[in-house]
Amino acid sequence: MKEIVLALDVPNKEEALSLVQKFNGELKWVKVGMQLFYKEGPEIVEALKNQGLKVFLDLKLHDIPNTVSSALKSLDSLDVDMVNVHCMGGAKMLWAASEALKDSNCLLIGVTQLTSSSEEQVQRELQLSVSLEESVKSLATLAKLNGLKGVVCSAFEASVVKHELGSDFVCVCPGIRFKEDSTDDQARVASPDFAVRNGADFLVMGRSIYKSEDPLAKFREAKALIEGVSQ
Ligand code: C5P
Repeated sequence: MKEIVLALDVPNKEEALSLVQKFNGELKWVKVGMQLFYKEGPEIVEALKNQGLKVFLDLKLHDIPNTVSSALKSLDSLDVDMVNVHCMGGAKMLWAASEALKDSNCLLIGVTQLTSSSEEQVQRELQLSVSLEESVKSLATLAKLNGLKGVVCSAFEASVVKHELGSDFVCVCPGIRFKEDSTDDQARVASPDFAVRNGADFLVMGRSIYKSEDPLAKFREAKALIEGVSQ
């Protein structure tokens, strides 16, 4: 089952709820990121859950194991459906994270390399000595070994992740654009159909949908492209 997750990258609850209203009940998943959560707090999650939506809380936790574990327990009490931590936090942090959610239905996902990063940039600035693909593969393996259910990666790496770690290991892919769109600050972008062909399970879509004149039409266009692949 492939899902589109709408990134609610808007400044406040009013704008988030009015955006959600435009989807005529067709939207199932939304993503609440730092901008909205830091402004509105748990209330925004409750409001979206009350609309019958599944919520991916994208806070990308990265801290010492004990802090991440306690933070995840707090987030789990909000009844969110998906949360994430940075794989770069290392094995102990990832293990503490999965232990914290072991009795929960909330999907725990690891962030590998951001889709805004380019190969050249991570090698020059972060001194990464392997390719982005190798790095994503090794971070995803670390995530799986430590009990996470999947990773956030670009659509380009989803096929490698699935091949290495199995089809049940979830790939959440941001950086999705229609062919005619601008890439904005994303470096590794892919179309919805390419992403699904490459193994994406969840397609995180923000600006391509909510910045358009008709977000519902764009959402339907993405859905049709995805369904075209699965047939
Ligand atoms: O507007 P756009 O479609 O680029 O939005 C992508 C969303 O996915 C943003 O909310 C961004 O924070 C998030 N994201 C990402 N890359 C990751 C993880 C999350 O772009 N690796």
